[in-house]
Amino acid sequence: MHIGKTAQLDELSHECGVLYSQTLVFFWRTVRHKGIWLKEKHLKRLLTSHKLHAHTADACVEAFFASLKSWRERKKAGDPNAHPPRRRKWYFRIEYKRSAMTLKDGKLRLSNGKGNTPLILDWPWELPQTVVIHWTGTQYEAIATYKLEQQHTEPWGEKVAGVDLGEIHMAVSHDGEQTHILNGRLLRSKVQFRNKLQAELNSRIDGRMKKGSKRRKRLIRSKKRQLKNIAHQIKDIEHKQTTRLITTLHEQGVQTVVIGDVRDIRQENDVGHTTNQKIHQWSHGSVRFKLTYKAERLGMAVALQDEHYTSRTCPCCGYVRSKVKGRVFRCPKCGWTYHRDGVGSINIRQKYLGQLPVVGAMAPPTGLRFGPHTRVARRQLREAALLQ
Ligand SMILES: [Zn+2]
Repeated sequence: MHIGKTAQLDELSHECGVLYSQTLVFFWRTVRHKGIWLKEKHLKRLLTSHKLHAHTADACVEAFFASLKSWRERKKAGDPNAHPPRRRKWYFRIEYKRSAMTLKDGKLRLSNGKGNTPLILDWPWELPQTVVIHWTGTQYEAIATYKLEQQHTEPWGEKVAGVDLGEIHMAVSHDGEQTHILNGRLLRSKVQFRNKLQAELNSRIDGRMKKGSKRRKRLIRSKKRQLKNIAHQIKDIEHKQTTRLITTLHEQGVQTVVIGDVRDIRQENDVGHTTNQKIHQWSHGSVRFKLTYKAERLGMAVALQDEHYTSRTCPCCGYVRSKVKGRVFRCPKCGWTYHRDGVGSINIRQKYLGQLPVVGAMAPPTGLRFGPHTRVARRQLREAALLQ
């Protein structure tokens, strides 16, 4: 949309130019004098403006680093005309992010930060994701970008799989014939190790050390680093495992993934200190989230299903046991027997389908192991997505 030329636009554009030039000068000066190539995040923190919205100011710094990146890529590709960004700008494009916008009665209000006059545009459309204002040579032009709804690929297959999230097993799935188990032991050992490490370091930090001493500060830094490492490892395991499960289900033609809803388990239960800690650290939220978006990416539908009693009910006759002991589930009423860990997922699936069928011969559960150094799972996911 063409928006003409006003003193306000000139001033904003100039302010962006100032910020861009400051970034450029500071960046190259630091390279020249110190031999340090600063990062985007450093300069974003350093260079701000009182006349712009904080995210508009960020965008000016981002623009410099974007052109730096494109120069590097072109140089790598052997382009002899590639030049790094060197020129200062008197005027520069103004970029507004979603956080700076409000739309009301056909007017788009673009904030320039607290205390500054906002920019108001007539806007007959919906709220955009970003608005960039640049100079065309005769007047200013506003370019809006919108986010497309994510296009789901067509599901292939009719199957429904129930997924039971657990503490010992990260997730167990059942698709009517087969049961897959994601083992959570490695994850659990990491969490236990984290707890121990945290307790140990905390007692050392709070105990003997003098407040404000160098040793104490060093130890706090070290603690943060060590905990961050473990957090990364935990995240890595979760990603690899969930990808593995979803690709396996996808290969078998599962169309709908039904996840047992355990969201209220934290609020209701008080089961003693140790178990409470276990339950609160049980990362079912992030596992559920990862399973959900990974399944949706492959075109599968995801549903949540209330999971009360699902691990204690016999899938065959519906009898609810008071307690399940041992590795094997054996129904005292009808004698149906199955590996205990699979029962929850079978029941979640049946609850969702609203049926209680006579369970025929079922394959014993298959374990999906964690492969720490394989990229296989991710490749499978990509290939599966390409297949469609
Ligand atoms: Zn039974």
